[in-house]
Formats: sequence, structure tokens, C-alpha cells
Amino acid sequence: MHILITGGAGFIGSHLADALLDRGDSVAILDDLSTGSFENIQHLQENPRFSFAIEALRNSLALDRLASQADAIVHLAAAVGVQLVVKHPTETIETNVLGAHAVLRIARRYRCHTLIASTSEVYGKSAAAPFSEDDDLLLGPPSRSRWGYAASKLLDEFLGLAAHREFGLPVTITRFFNTVGPRQTGRYGMVVPRFVNQALRGEPVTVFGDGSQSRCFCHVSDVVRALAALLDRPAVTAGQIYNIGSDHEVTIIDLAEQVIERADSTSSIRYIPYQEAYAPGFEDMRRRVPDITKIRAAIGWSPICSLAETLDDIIACEREKISG
Ligand code: UDP
Repeated sequence: MHILITGGAGFIGSHLADALLDRGDSVAILDDLSTGSFENIQHLQENPRFSFAIEALRNSLALDRLASQADAIVHLAAAVGVQLVVKHPTETIETNVLGAHAVLRIARRYRCHTLIASTSEVYGKSAAAPFSEDDDLLLGPPSRSRWGYAASKLLDEFLGLAAHREFGLPVTITRFFNTVGPRQTGRYGMVVPRFVNQALRGEPVTVFGDGSQSRCFCHVSDVVRALAALLDRPAVTAGQIYNIGSDHEVTIIDLAEQVIERADSTSSIRYIPYQEAYAPGFEDMRRRVPDITKIRAAIGWSPICSLAETLDDIIACEREKISG
């Protein structure tokens, strides 16, 4: 298959490119390098089945050219990281909505199976964890920037499913829960790379709030395996939404302790109030757990990597980066 990955120089996109090339697919990447990095794809340059264009997505001639050669598009280009989203709310909404709009318009032209990456943020502050794809969604008010991200990704989902219903375009929506692994940067607020770097440098590990909030962390190799399998089954997955994530839940304080222990670190834990970490009035999710019954039934996928293995992998990679 020939696959176009938007945002392919990012954390998940570059791992997906690796996996697809490994199994014999051809991969083209379109990325503006706003949050992605050339370093992530540098090692692919010599591969004859790999090509890339460094360009913005919207109104991009490159998008048209690359899509015309593709069997499928994986649309990963989006605003990432809660801190970035709170700091640049306009750019976040424009990037997410106009980006998905541009991709779906081109996908219709060339009839490409299109995977639209969405997020567990769309479940909002619902307390009904584990979350299933057909659950009602509970977003906060527009006066709080965080929800602009969720609302914009939700609009992407609506756009994608509308194109499926109205024009028969094979569109699959993936709701990513917390995805972690090598190459993820802590620059935009993600907790695991931040904790690992703090622990390896012997700096205090910064727990926001009281640390009793929980998340489920899935290794990026598991996530990429799910994406590759979804691409193989357009007849089954078109018009569907799938949660992709681990269902092993851990509190953030427990995560901090595990990172410190596994990194052999002497770091202490520092508690930082939410209003200091983000902005006044910031609303965090207490729990975020996926129900992965639907994707398991559709393509037989479930995550393999344990949290301990995942943390060890990230710690080893970050340790190498720091010492190298
Ligand atoms: N968090 C934290 N310390 C940090 C960064 C994040 O305690 O240095 C917390 C954050 O408040 C949230 C959880 O870790 O409760 C996961 O944050 P992340 O930004 O990785 O993902 P989210 O699930 O919030 O999108």
C-alpha cells in the first residue's frame, strides 16, 4: 500500500512510518515541522519507498500531489499538548479544523481510505469511565481554553463521519488515549517524558494537583500496530470510531514514584497547584480509561507492552540522549 501520513515527522507519525515501511508499504510524509522534527525521520531518507514534503497542510499543493498517489491517508497533523493548546487557542482550533477539512476534501477527490486521529479529550470530564465510543460527551464551557481542543477534534470527527455518510468516503476515526514512547517530547506538557527527564537529571518530579488523577499509558508501538491493522481493513473500519489505548490505570503520583524507582533516581516529588501549572480555572480530568472492546472485536487488537516495560524503554532512550 502507498500511505500518506500528515504530521508524519511527529512522535506517533514517525513511528507509524517506521512500522509501515518495515512491512513493505510505501510512505509519504507531509509535515510543517511546527511540533514534529526532522530528526524523527532522518533515518528514513535513504529508503526508496519513503518520501517527504515539509509544507503546511492547508491549501497545500503538496497535499494534492501526495494524496493523488496514495491508497490511504493517516491524518495525524494537529495541535498537540495541553500546555500548547492553552497558550495558543486560536492556532489550535484553526490547525485542527482547517487541517481535517483540507485532508477530507482531497481524500474525496482521490477516494482514499482516511484515518482521522482524534483524542480521548472528546470524552471531556465525563465520570463514566471506562469510556466507550458511543458514550455521551461532556465538555466544559468555551470560556476555558482546554475545551477548544476537544471541540475542534470533535468537529473533525463529525466532518469525517459526514464525508462517509454523504459521499461514501471510507473514513475511520481513532480516539487516542495517552500514548507514550521514545521520541515524545515533554516540551508541550506531556507527563511521562517530563517525569523521565526530571528523574534522570535528579530534578524534582513535578506532580500537578494532588496526583490522585489517573491515566492509562500505551506504548506507541502498540498504537502503531493498531493503526496498521485498521488500514488493512477499510471495509470493516469505515464509518467507525475506535478507542486506542491501554486500559491499565495508574495515578499520577504512582507514576511519579515508578519513574523515580525505575530510573534509579534520587529525585523528590514537588506538588504544583493546577493554576500555577496551566492557567487559573484549569479543569483536569480525574480519570481517563478507554473501553477497548470495540477495536478488539473489529481487528483483534489489544496492547501488549506493560507500563513497566514502557517506562524502561523511555528511560533507556532518554538516558542515551542525555549522555550522548
Ligand atoms: N502532569 C503532571 N506533571 C507534569 C505534566 C503533567 O502532574 O509535569 C499531569 C497532568 O496534570 C495530567 C496528567 O499528568 O493530570 C497527564 O498529563 P498529560 O499532559 O501528559 O496528558 P493529558 O492526559 O492531560 O492530556
